[in-house]
This record gives sequence, C-alpha cells and structure tokens, in this order.
Amino acid sequence: DYVPNGYHPAYIGEVLTNDQNNISYTLIRKLGWGHFSTVWLARAKKIEIKNSEVQSNDLKYVAVKIVRSAKHYTETSIDEIKLLKKVKNFNTNNNNNIGQHNVIKLLDDFTINGPNGNHIVMIFEILGENLLSLIKKFKHNGIPTILVKQIAKQILFALDFLHRNCGIIHTDLKPENILLKINNTNVLKLIDLISNKKNLLKILRFYQDFLSDISISRKKINNNNNNNNNSPNKILHSDNFLSSLSLMTISNNIVNNSNFPTPPSSGSNHDTDLPDQKINNNNQLNDRLYNDSNLINAKIADLGNACWIDKHFTNDIQTRQYRAPEIIMGGSWGCSADVWSFACLIFELLTGDYLFEPIEGHSYSRDDDHLAQIVELLSCPNPHEDHDLVNLVNGCSKSSSFFNDNYHLQNLSSLRFWDLKRVLKEKYKFSELESRQISDFLLPMLNLNPKKRADAGGMINHPWLEDTFGMENVFNQERKLYNSGLDMPGWCSEVFHYTLY
Ligand code: ATP
Ligand code: MG
Ligand code: MG
Repeated sequence: DYVPNGYHPAYIGEVLTNDQNNISYTLIRKLGWGHFSTVWLARAKKIEIKNSEVQSNDLKYVAVKIVRSAKHYTETSIDEIKLLKKVKNFNTNNNNNIGQHNVIKLLDDFTINGPNGNHIVMIFEILGENLLSLIKKFKHNGIPTILVKQIAKQILFALDFLHRNCGIIHTDLKPENILLKINNTNVLKLIDLISNKKNLLKILRFYQDFLSDISISRKKINNNNNNNNNSPNKILHSDNFLSSLSLMTISNNIVNNSNFPTPPSSGSNHDTDLPDQKINNNNQLNDRLYNDSNLINAKIADLGNACWIDKHFTNDIQTRQYRAPEIIMGGSWGCSADVWSFACLIFELLTGDYLFEPIEGHSYSRDDDHLAQIVELLSCPNPHEDHDLVNLVNGCSKSSSFFNDNYHLQNLSSLRFWDLKRVLKEKYKFSELESRQISDFLLPMLNLNPKKRADAGGMINHPWLEDTFGMENVFNQERKLYNSGLDMPGWCSEVFHYTLY
C-alpha cells in the first residue's frame, strides 16, 4: 500500500511542515493505522525568524494522521475536516456542552507532497489507546462496570453534542473509534484492585504493556521537553524507569495487602490464567474505587465516516456488528442509528462479547442471521404483537426480502428467544439486580423502531449512570429520560432543505 496513490512512506524523524502557520511536526513513532491513513506521534514546533536567525520553539506532542493520496481518500478527508471543524468551532459560550470535550479535537490541517502523491495531514490532540485494546486487556471477560459507566456517560454527552448541536451523525461507533486519555496514577490503583496474588505475573506484564501504550499522553513528556535534547530514546528510557518504579510499588502492594479481593471461584484454579467462564467481580471493585477521583476521559474519534443530518454521503454505513436494523433493511435513518451502535458497544464493554455476531449459512445470508439475532433478543414469538417490529418492517424498502407478510423471517424458521436480561444473568453471570438495571438501560436504545428509540441526551439521566464515578451529580437538564429524539431534526431520516449546516 506504500505505492503511488497509497500511504505516505513516513519515517521516524521526518519533518512535516504547515507553511501557512510555520508549524513543523517531527515524527517520533507510529501510533496506529487504519484503512485511510497512518497515525504518528510527533512533536510540534513553531518556526520563527528572530534577528535573521531561524528559531524553532517546541510546542507540544500531537497525533499526526497522514491520509492516503488517492482522490477518494483526499475527498473523504476534506469532508472529515469540515466535520471536525464544526465540532471544534461550536461556540460553547451560550451552552453548557460537556460533550464537546468528549469528541477528538482537530488542531491543524494541511497538505504535503511526497513520493506517492499529495496527502492531507490532520493534527490531533494526543490520546491513549482505543477501547478495543482495553477489551483485549481484560481478556474479553468484560471491563469493570465502574469504567464502563464513565465511558458510557461521557460518550452519551458526546453523541448528544454531535446530534443536537453539530447536526452530525458518526455512523461508525465501535470500540476502535473511541480513544482514552488515562490518569496514570489512578490506573495504577485500578490495576492494583483487580489483581490478586495468583495473577501477579500476569498483572505485571499487563501493566507494562499498558504503561507503554499510555506513556505518550503524560505530563512527564512535557517535563522532558524543558531540556532541549530530548531524543525519543530519552523519553523511552524515562518511561522504563517510571514503569519499573511503579511495578515495584504494585508488587509490594499485592504481596502485602491482606484485604485484597479474593479471586472469584471458577472451578479451574490450577494455573494463573483468568478463568474461561465469564466472571463478574465488579461489585468488589465498585466498593473499593468509590473514594477515588475520575480515571479516564473517553473521546469519540475517527469522524472519517461521519455525515451531516442534511447530507448523508451513503446508505452503506456502520460496521457489521454495530449496524442498526433499519440500515440492514434499507430504511431511512438518522442520528438514532448511532444510539443503536452505542448500545451494542456498551454491551460489548461489559461482557467482552459482541451483542450481535451474524454469520452466513447455507440457506440464509449474513443479513438474515443478523435480523434473526435481533428478533431473538428484542422481539417476541408472535411478531404481530410487536408494534415496533411491524413498524420497522413496514418502513423499510428491502423488508420483503427478509420478512414475509406475517412478519416472520423467511429464511430462518426456528428462532430461540432469549431476552437481554436473561442473557446478562444466565450467560454472563450478572446479578439479578444488575441484569435488570443494565437491560433497562440498553433496551430503550435498541428499540426496533428508530422513531421511538431513546435519544443519547436523555439516556444520560438513567439511574444506572447515577453513581457514575466522578460524574455523580451530572445530569442533562435539556433532555428527558427515555424520550425519543423525534423532536430533533435528522433523528430518523435525512433532512432536506436544511440550511444550518
Ligand atoms: P479507519 O480504517 O478506522 O477509518 P483511519 O485511517 O481513519 O481508520 P483512525 O481511525 O483515525 O484512522 O486512526 C487509526 C488509529 O490510530 C486509531 O485506531 C488509534 O489507534 C490511532 N490514533 C488515531 N488518532 C489518535 C490520537 N489522536 N491519539 C493517539 N492515537 C490515535
Ligand atoms: Mg478508525
Ligand atoms: Mg476513518
């Protein structure tokens, strides 16, 4: 892919300059990549001429997204920049928009010319790892509820802000596209709490990974910045030093702390691996973390597939597992499609598994299987009685290729109904109370009828999020719990002749 029209062959030490504002960016290391781009950690410098001498003043560390050069990618990223600028320039003076801080911030943009063509470059604030790697770090056993609630509340604020203030639909909400900024001291405490003596080695390894991932976002880099010769090696070196120091603290804690939560009994205690069976030790964690301060800051990133409520770029949206039923069936759609994906995402954070994971079979398509899984979880054996399902089926152009006149699926007959609350309790071993609370939270956002789906702003006020750590008394006065977003433009269909955006 590093060919003409492909990725820019960036390298460590390369300097990219925006000639318009005389800011240069020196690449330090690769942070990630995607279909559209490679993303790099870089140091920004302002170049100034003083007394006819060129001076460069260090600014700060940033993330540099270098887009592939083919026309399609360039055009898409021009739209991405417009969307990002809408988010950035939204005037918060008259509004109390917490959510603006939970969407990634564009700092600069320009074009560079390289051997593979012209590439758009976007500069972002630097963030830590994405939620998919957090899911993996918890070995697909689910992320502790205390963290999930923080992420959920913050992302709901972000969605409410995008939908109502910016007129933007993200259309690709999934773990990879949510990035975390992590308070390092508190991460130490958290990892301390979830560990036990048996898992000591594993936790230490885990921690080491974690620290190297988040190390770029911390203050000490800025401190390093004060002395002029801060090579990347030096930063790495200081990271290692810090991490070994913290590892020592952690291991001491683990060995000495007799109040440590006992490992949940799982049957298979013969090695240090986490048990295969889904376990749930969130209560212990919740109890012990209550007196702490806010741990994390979650931000929606990658607006590369986002669109305007009055300008949908395509109907082919959303990553499979997070795709709303109206998209599968060719119906009209809007902001409410994001809310569906959000609910799928929260389930996945809590359990480590996809909510829906459709596959193709001999006699049915992947779409058939997807709709079957949705019906099994959210509807009832007699579809006539489900007005929301009837509404959805009647409202979508491709319905007849999936459902017959009696609202039964055509290509899959023997459905096994298993409602969300029971899945949480029976498969994932959440308590009766937690299973009820979580399904009460998720189900309004999984309403089959997009018109009636609960809006992000109102869901901020849900009782499940009331005790969100660090955001206990934060509510959204402007929206009502469980109300649909039907009163806002673009909620469930594209807006025509709308001039605001
Ligand atoms: P996609 O194929 O998902 O559309 P993309 O080419 O548009 O990808 P992004 O999703 O924006 O690229 O970024 C790719 C990866 O780079 C992210 O998953 C993340 O790991 C990393 N990354 C992006 N932005 C930042 C940032 N601001 N700070 C730290 N890491 C980042
Ligand atoms: Mg992405
Ligand atoms: Mg993208």
